[in-house]
Amino acid sequence: IMILAVNLNYLVQEMTELLSVSISKKASIRLELAPTLPEIMADPAQMQQLVMNLVTNASEALGEEGGTITLRTGEQWLDSVYLTTLIPAIPIPPGRYVVLEVSDTGCGMTRDVIDLIFDPFFTTKFTGRGLGLSALMGILKSHGGSIKVYSEPGQGTSMKLFLPVVATEAS
Ligand code: ADP
Ligand code: MG
Repeated sequence: IMILAVNLNYLVQEMTELLSVSISKKASIRLELAPTLPEIMADPAQMQQLVMNLVTNASEALGEEGGTITLRTGEQWLDSVYLTTLIPAIPIPPGRYVVLEVSDTGCGMTRDVIDLIFDPFFTTKFTGRGLGLSALMGILKSHGGSIKVYSEPGQGTSMKLFLPVVATEAS
């Protein structure tokens, strides 16, 4: 484990270039990166794995038909009301968070499936291992982060990750 100040914009650009080779030719990747983004304290290798797991799942959800995968970065103040809407419910304190949202226009999921996707070995794929999202959950928790999953069968999925902003000065 190596903890460094990480700019998710750079990391996302780097990873999408790498992944564009391996994902479906029918998938188009769109980046919507915040013009400026605070750094987070994180293990860069684990952050890369997290982006890779999300983009791989998004690409697999698009299937033969293809579609769009969007990666968006930003910053958000999470208050106690918003925190109650997190699915799954991973408790984090109110505060400033960097947001990384990966959305796809793929198959989507029912609520029953959403409730299972972070369990180790849960998969709906013939050759799936069901370890991508349980690994992602471990990484998020060890970084003090959380997640909100939105999904609609036949419409697509969006996974919104929150990672705490480094406190740079007293305010
Ligand atoms: P695997 O990809 O090996 O199945 P994961 O842990 O990465 O394992 O994902 C678990 C399950 O969550 C998948 O099998 C799929 O049913 C569901 N899932 C994850 N991401 C998406 C997505 N973007 N769209 C639809 N379903 C998804
Ligand atoms: Mg996966």
